[in-house]
Amino acid sequence: MYTAGIDIGSTTSKCVLLEDGEKILATSLVQAGTGTCGPSNAMDGLLREGQISSRELSCIVATGYGRNRYEGADMQVSELTCHGLGAHFLFPEARTVIDIGGQDAKVLTLNEKGRLVSFQMNDKCAAGTGRFLDVMAQILQLDIDQMESGCLKATTPVSISSTCTVFAETEVISQLSNGAAIPDILAGICDSVAARVASLARREGVRDPVCMTGGVARNGGVRSALGKALHKPLLYSPYSQFAGALGAALYGWVQQ
Ligand code: ADP
Repeated sequence: MYTAGIDIGSTTSKCVLLEDGEKILATSLVQAGTGTCGPSNAMDGLLREGQISSRELSCIVATGYGRNRYEGADMQVSELTCHGLGAHFLFPEARTVIDIGGQDAKVLTLNEKGRLVSFQMNDKCAAGTGRFLDVMAQILQLDIDQMESGCLKATTPVSISSTCTVFAETEVISQLSNGAAIPDILAGICDSVAARVASLARREGVRDPVCMTGGVARNGGVRSALGKALHKPLLYSPYSQFAGALGAALYGWVQQ
């Protein structure tokens, strides 16, 4: 039986095709989120990649910020439920999930069955989210993918003291004009995201093992800075950004 999950975020649409609730057959990602053609393009891409037609799908479950605007789904399920399910599938041992998306950051505590016990969320401020990285990448005229390789070359990370994205932007511009090296600025940006998210995680309480999900987890610089800030290793998978969509596909399978 095939089920599909679609996670419609603020910046990105992600889909996962699952067979019998246990095998990931295909994924798709379109860098356009809610209110755009991103969700339908992502679903078309998933069907192409999985080489199946929509009639063969038993269930499509939508999650994420834009889930209620998407008309192609059989049901809508909250992000927290789906992220918990998806993270548990990827990292069955994980008790803490740190999810950093384009517009918010969440820290989830799961029980041993992967059920959500409690959570903390930052959705009021761009600092400590992908938006912060996106703004900084723009100032530095870098592609978001180039930020990781850049910051791994840092020798003396600069300190970015502002917690506000707008002030931090000014700080980065002034570091640039003072001649700071780009890798050192990038490392400072990763440290800044890590400091914000670590304090959110401490508010929730960190239980081992800890895993990372969401698009920002793709950045090894942020992963390593956050690991240092929390003094522990963080589990990561190339499917981390798909955790919500994966959880949605799993939810659809359980309902059948
Ligand atoms: P949402 O569901 O809110 O759209 P995602 O969890 O899909 O968010 O994450 C999107 C964010 O991931 C973007 O804002 C971007 O900053 C970040 N991102 C995407 N790719 C990379 C990458 N290669 N390195 C670092 N960050 C990335």
